[in-house]
Amino acid sequence: MKIIYDPLELQEYLKNRSETIGFVPTMGALHEGHISLIKKAREQNELVVVSIFVNPTQFLKGEDLDSYPSKNEADTKICKLANVDVLFFPTKEGMYLNDEVSLLAPKVRGYVLEGATRPGHFNGVLTVVIKLLNIVRPTRAYFGKKDAQQLNLIMLMVKHLFMHVEIIPVDTVRDSDGLAKSSRNVYLSPEERVEALKISKSLHEASKLVSRRELNSRQIEEKMREVLAPLEVAYVAILNREFERIDEIQIGNTVILVEAVVGRTRLLDNIWV
Ligand code: AMP
Repeated sequence: MKIIYDPLELQEYLKNRSETIGFVPTMGALHEGHISLIKKAREQNELVVVSIFVNPTQFLKGEDLDSYPSKNEADTKICKLANVDVLFFPTKEGMYLNDEVSLLAPKVRGYVLEGATRPGHFNGVLTVVIKLLNIVRPTRAYFGKKDAQQLNLIMLMVKHLFMHVEIIPVDTVRDSDGLAKSSRNVYLSPEERVEALKISKSLHEASKLVSRRELNSRQIEEKMREVLAPLEVAYVAILNREFERIDEIQIGNTVILVEAVVGRTRLLDNIWV
């Protein structure tokens, strides 16, 4: 496995290659969720590139940028074991200048749900993703459905900026008790981890209701909030795949999303029904 730190060196290394390239951007502290993205990239492409970069522009003031878990050595081992061809570890200085061009997330879709709790967050996400995609120029790039709004905005960016990359959504990987894997789960105390299960339980409740043909969004949301109590709920949202609110579940075209705060940790989860 080749490890590259400099964006220009990586760009040069990948330039004029004839192989298909699968790209998995991450912020490190790799877990089984990331590994399933890498596996999918490995299955579908000749070359696999993984990036690890804790992108400062997507953190708001007061968020966990400085304490974000970092496990570079373990991450490198995981990538080697997963047969990654190139691991890209850029620095902040390599990726950003002081005064430069950046992207703005759409004014509505970028400022609802997680964008409402973290205004400006998606500007940073889209800016770093377009930079990474331009450096790597992959055939396919892999993103988790767990970050459904991020995935939706990246797909919009690729479409509206006429970019030449296929975005591949990957299913959420969970612990055996249902908690969605997340690098931020390490912040949870054992008691908080038990509390956090209310999030996946509320989604499980929603999917049970849907399978019993309860399709009314308000009813489902109410039942989910009962399961989530007394957690601080940032939002429960029932949307179609275009990310518009819907009054009735449309089977095959609906995402049910939750964001809740457990202790001091914000956790996201969703299911696609
Ligand atoms: P992060 O390192 O948290 O920025 O995540 C990097 C990529 O992994 C993103 O596309 C995430 O959506 C994806 N991801 C994170 N957690 C999971 C999970 N539990 N299952 C599947 N994909 C995930």
